[in-house]
Amino acid sequence: MTKQLAAVHYSITSHDLAAHVFHVTLTITNPDPNGQIVSLPVWIPGSYMVREFARNIIRISAQANGKKIALKKLNKTSWQAAACDVNASLQISYEVYAWDLSVRAAHLDQSHGFFNGTSVFLQVHGQEPLAHVVDIQKPEDASAKTWRIATSLPELKAKRFGFGTYIASDYDDLMDHPVEMGDFALVSFKAHGVPHDFVITGKVPNIDLTRIAKDVQKICETEIAFFEPRTKQAPMDRYVFMTMAVGEGYGGLEHRASTALICNRADLPTKNDTSVSEGYREFLALCSHEYFHTWNVKRIKPAVFANYDLSQENYTSLLWLFEGFTSYYDDLFLRRCGLIDEAAYLKLIEKTVNTVQRGSGRKKQSVADSSFDAWTKYYRQDENSPNAIVSYYAKGSLVALGLDLTIRHETEGKKSLDDVMRALWKKYGKDFYEKAKSGKQQGLGEDEFESLVEQVTGVKIKRFIDKYIKGTEDVPLAKLYVDFAVDVKDQSTAKKASLNVRLSKSGADCKLAHVYEDGAAHRAGLSAGDVLVAFNGLRVTAADAGNGLVNLLAAYSVGETVQVHAFRRDELLTVNVKLQADDVPSLTIALAANQKLAGAKKRPSI
Ligand SMILES: [Zn+2]
Repeated sequence: MTKQLAAVHYSITSHDLAAHVFHVTLTITNPDPNGQIVSLPVWIPGSYMVREFARNIIRISAQANGKKIALKKLNKTSWQAAACDVNASLQISYEVYAWDLSVRAAHLDQSHGFFNGTSVFLQVHGQEPLAHVVDIQKPEDASAKTWRIATSLPELKAKRFGFGTYIASDYDDLMDHPVEMGDFALVSFKAHGVPHDFVITGKVPNIDLTRIAKDVQKICETEIAFFEPRTKQAPMDRYVFMTMAVGEGYGGLEHRASTALICNRADLPTKNDTSVSEGYREFLALCSHEYFHTWNVKRIKPAVFANYDLSQENYTSLLWLFEGFTSYYDDLFLRRCGLIDEAAYLKLIEKTVNTVQRGSGRKKQSVADSSFDAWTKYYRQDENSPNAIVSYYAKGSLVALGLDLTIRHETEGKKSLDDVMRALWKKYGKDFYEKAKSGKQQGLGEDEFESLVEQVTGVKIKRFIDKYIKGTEDVPLAKLYVDFAVDVKDQSTAKKASLNVRLSKSGADCKLAHVYEDGAAHRAGLSAGDVLVAFNGLRVTAADAGNGLVNLLAAYSVGETVQVHAFRRDELLTVNVKLQADDVPSLTIALAANQKLAGAKKRPSI
C-alpha cells in the first residue's frame, strides 16, 4: 500500500443536476480531538463583500469511523463536530445549492457546472497548511456524459481536462482555482512558453476561437514582458481563462493562475466579422484586466491580504492601487500591443474622466476611503451612490494616469509608473507564494507606497497623495497632459435644459434611477424611485427613459419652470421644476495638433 498523503480530502459530484446541488464529502484524518471546527468563507477574495456562502449549505452531517456523530452549528458559517479520537477518520457530508450564475459563487444545471472553492469546500481549522486533494466526479446524469473539466488546479490523478483527482498545496491555494465543467469550447496557446487555455461555456454560434487566441495571446505576452522585461518569465506554469457567455452579463474575478469571466455572447467575435466591435474591445479589456491581477493583487498584495481572514471583512485603503491601477493598465495594454490605436485609447480615458466627473460623491469620498468602505459602499450601491461615493476603479485609474504623467514629466521621460509597478513586483510579488510556504509572505503596508515611488523614481508624491488619493480633488489631467501633446477640452458650452436625473425603464414606465444632488429634480422635491407620468401636461413613457426626455425637454430653456406629475408609492405628486443646465460632463481628450512637442514621444501609450 502507498502511504496516504497527509492531506485534507474532498470528493465533489452531483446526483441531480436539475436540483442544482453539489454533493461534497470531506474526509479529515487526525481531526481535532476536542471537536473539529469547519467553516465556509463569508467572502471570496477579489470581491469585497460579505456573501455568507454557508447559507447555500442545505444539509450537513458528520461521521467518525463510519458512525454518525453530532455536528453543532456555532454561527452562521461554522460547525463543530463532537469530540472523537485523533486517529479517527472524520467525514463531513454536505449538499450545496448552486444557482448563482456569477463569477463569485457556484452554478450547476444540465448544461454545465461551475464552482469556486469558497462556495463548496469547508475550511478545516488547524489543517489549512496541509495539501488539499479534490476528487471531482462526473455527475451520473446523462447530460454530463461528454463533460470535461477546466481548472488551473494541478492534476494529481486525472488527465488534462478530465474528471479525477486534483491537488492544491494548501487551503488558500484550493480557494484560488475555480472549476468549470461542461461541453465547453476550448482553444489553447502559449504565451512566452507558458500554456494558456481559453474555455468558453454557453452557445456562441460560429465563434472565432483562433482570433480570440491570437488577440489574448498578444495581451498575455505584453503583460508578462512588462513585469519581466529581461527573462519574460510568467509567474505561473499554466493559465486558464474560463468564460461564461450569456445574453447579458459582464464581469470577471482574478485568481493566481486563472480567471472566471462572464460576458455577452454578442461581444465575442464570429468568423464572419473581423472588426473590433466595442463589445469585443471591452471583452479584451476584461481579459487584460484580470490577467494583470495575476501580478497586481494575487502576488503584489496589500499587507492585510497576505493572510486572508475569510470569516470577516479585510479592510485596506489601497484598492485604488490594486483595482484602479489594474484598470489603468488594462486599456493601456490594448494600446501597447496594437489592438487599438492611440486615438481610440484616448477616447477610453475620455469616457472614464466623464464618468468620474458625473457624481458629486467624488467631492465627498476619497479613493482611499472608497477602498476602505468597498464592503459596505462600492459593493452595495444604491440610488444615492452618485451623490455619496467615488469609484476606486475609475478614479483610481485616473490617479494612475496622473501619477504616470507626473513621473514622466519630472524625470524627463527617464522613469514612469511602469518602473513603480516593476519595483512593487520585485519587492512584494515575485516570490510571494514561495515565501508564503514558510510563513514569510509580505504585502504592501498601507503607507508604504509613497516612499517606494520616491525610491524608484526620485519624485516626491506626498502632495499628489494628499490631494488626489487621500483627498477628493480631481486629478488635473488638462494640466498634466499639456507636455505630452494631448489636449483636454471642456466642450460643454451650450447647456441644454435638464432635470439633472438619470432615468430607467420600469415596464411601461419611466422611473428616476438617480437624482443628482442640487439638480432641478432634487430642488423640486423629486426622489429616486419616483415614476414620471407627465411633463408639462404631456405623457411620459418608458421610451422617454431611453432618450433622457430629450423630446419633451427640447422645447424649454434653462431657467423655465415646468409642471411634473409623478407617482411615489402609488400617490400622485405634482411639482414645479425649475429646469437647470444639463450637468453631464463633456470633456474631450485627443491628440494635440502639434505633435512635435518634446513630450509627445514620452506618452504612456507609445
Ligand atoms: Zn479587478
